[in-house]
Formats: sequence, C-alpha cells, structure tokens
Amino acid sequence: MMKAAVLGATGSVGQIFVQLLCGHPWFEVSVLAASERSAGLKYSEAAKWRLPTSIPENLSNLDVVDITPEAVRSIEDVDVVFSALPSDVAGKTEESFAESGYVVVSNASSHRMDPDVPLINPEVNCDHVSLIDEQRRKRKWSGAIVTNPNCSATVLTLSLKPIYDEFGIKRMIVSTMQAISGAGYPGVASLDIVDNVIPFIRNEEEKMQAETLKVFGSPSKPADFKISASCHRVPTLDGHMEAVFVEPKREADPDSLMAAMEKFVGEPQKLGLPTAPAKPVVVRREENRPQTRLDRMEGNGMSVVVGRVRKDPALMGVKYIVLGHNTIRGAAGCGVLNAEYLKAKKYL
Ligand code: NAP
Repeated sequence: MMKAAVLGATGSVGQIFVQLLCGHPWFEVSVLAASERSAGLKYSEAAKWRLPTSIPENLSNLDVVDITPEAVRSIEDVDVVFSALPSDVAGKTEESFAESGYVVVSNASSHRMDPDVPLINPEVNCDHVSLIDEQRRKRKWSGAIVTNPNCSATVLTLSLKPIYDEFGIKRMIVSTMQAISGAGYPGVASLDIVDNVIPFIRNEEEKMQAETLKVFGSPSKPADFKISASCHRVPTLDGHMEAVFVEPKREADPDSLMAAMEKFVGEPQKLGLPTAPAKPVVVRREENRPQTRLDRMEGNGMSVVVGRVRKDPALMGVKYIVLGHNTIRGAAGCGVLNAEYLKAKKYL
C-alpha cells in the first residue's frame, strides 16, 4: 500500500480526495494538511464534512498538520501528495514538496500552464507524462508536479477526445452552466446564486481555452484549433453542463460521432486502473438528457454524459450537451486517476 498526504484536506476537493482514497486498493491516506486555522485540530474538528458518506473513522481523529514537507514528514514519509490547495497558496507549496522529493498530483491552476508540467486528463493525453523527465532535469527535482485541468476543461476535453481522434477539430465554441461547488466552500453567497444565473466566473474562460489546447497538443506544443468559451454559474450543487458546438476537420454526422464516443476507451481503461470508469463517455439518446441531478454520478462520477448530438448549421458541424461531475471527474477523481497512471508507469 502506498501512503498519501492530502494538502487542503478540509476543503471541498480535499474531502472528495479523502472519500475516494478511503478503501482505495493502492493508496492509503496517512497525512492530512490544511491552513494554520486547521493545523493542530483533529480532522473531524477542522473539516466541516459536507459529503453524504460519513467522515472516514480511521481519519477523523488524525491531527491536521501544516502544508510543509517537514510537517508532513513528521507524521509519515508518504509516497504521493495530493494537492487541493487554492492556487495562490499552491504555487510555492507544491514546488517545495517536489524539491523535497515528493510527487505532487495537483488540482490547482498554479502550474498547469508551465511548459514542463504535465496537464493530464488521463484518457485524453496521458502520454504527456513524459514531461516529468524534462521537469526533473530542468528543475533538478527528484520529485515532480503533475496537474489535471480545471473542472470545466476536464469535462470538455474528455467529450472531445473521440471527435478529435476520428475527425479532427477545426474550431469550436463552448458555453457552460457550472455548479456552485465549483467555487469551493463557502463559495458563492446564497443571496447571489439562488434564483439567479451569474454570467461571469473569473479567469474561467481563459483557463478553459488555454488548457484545452495544451491537453490536445503534443507535450511541447499546444493544439492549433480555434476555441471560444463562455462560462456561467448556475444554481445547481454539483455537475457542470456544457453546450458544445464543433466544426470537425472531416465531415461527421451525429450518428458517426455518437458511434465514436460510444466505442471510445483510453489508456486507463486498457490498463484497468481502479478509478477508471468502464465507459468514459456515456451517450444518452433521449431528447432531454443529460440532466444534472440524474446523470452526474454516472460511472461513480468519473464518466461524462453526452446527449442531444445533432447537426449545427452555423458551424457546419455538430453540437451536443455534455455533463460531468466537477469535484469528482473535474477535480479529485481525475487526480486519483492520474496518480494510478503514474504508479502504473513507475513514476511513483
Ligand atoms: P476550498 O473548499 O476553499 O478548500 C481550500 C483548502 O485549502 C482547505 O483545506 C483550506 O484549509 C486550505 N487552505 C486555504 N488557504 C490556505 C492557506 N493559506 N494555507 C494552507 N492551506 C490553505 O477550495 P476547493 O474548491 O476545494 O478547491 C481547491 C483547489 O482545487 C483550488 O485550487 C481550486 O481551484 C481547485 N479545483 C476546484 C474544483 C471544484 O470543483 N471545486 C475543481 C477543479 C479544481 P482550511 O480549511 O484550514 O482553511
């Protein structure tokens, strides 16, 4: 069993990490770290546990420590560090862990666009893992930082992968309906979001555009298709829905596109990784699916659900709706799957 630390363990994504790793066949959480507000408290005192399952019994009495390599090492010399820290804190902290020899699997945006840091959505571009060798050489680290894309880009890129592989992409537009949990806890004030839609999420459109191109590029060069994103916060709790309009390079009718999505599997499925959903892209043919409440837990929250695939007359291509769980597939679940891939490829 490999030992794991979770940085930001008390937050929204940190709690999902803890939940997903509880009972995991390869990883066992042995260190929980958060801000100085939480350090020194028992996990059950520091974390306002907001998940429908109980706080794991073996962790509820564990002392939360500071987010430093020394504090983590004082409890256990872990094999992997999962980071769910806010980006303003994650930058330097993750570097200090990587420099101290730890492999950091991060959800934060701080290092996603660094040219030598892999930004991996495992079914889409796990070959980018090779950037770790360059990162270690350049930065003289024995550890490493590996990141996963922002939640809305993770959902988008997984649904686009079968299209990109079979038909190519010339240009595309995406318009999001993003859940409140995407803003962390306490996130958006209830008086701002109940009975409302907010057509602005700071930096989200830029992240979606840049990260999607990095994911679909080669490890050293972003992809060159045109992408435009419009991001909106809506009053759902979990699950980001996205309306996607794509002009493929080669002509694709809705049926051939759905067939490509339905047969698609990635490396995680071929390797049989524990967190890999059997079907990464699930296609629904009913006229009114996917729906957030009904479909966000498909594949234990690790699949994305596509529906309403139809012709798009304006872009000369196709349009569809995709839904994915933002804190599972779009955050901690993607991180755990990345760590499983790193272990399978002997980077852990
Ligand atoms: P959150 O609920 O606000 O949790 C933040 C965590 O970081 C808490 O454990 C908090 O500890 C800790 N923290 C805050 N300030 C700190 C500091 N100065 N020093 C040390 N620890 C500190 O946020 P979240 O939604 O889980 O997001 C975490 C990260 O994942 C962010 O980078 C976010 O952008 C990214 N992400 C989130 C989502 C999503 O859907 N929510 C999706 C993808 C990526 P205390 O409890 O002690 O304050």
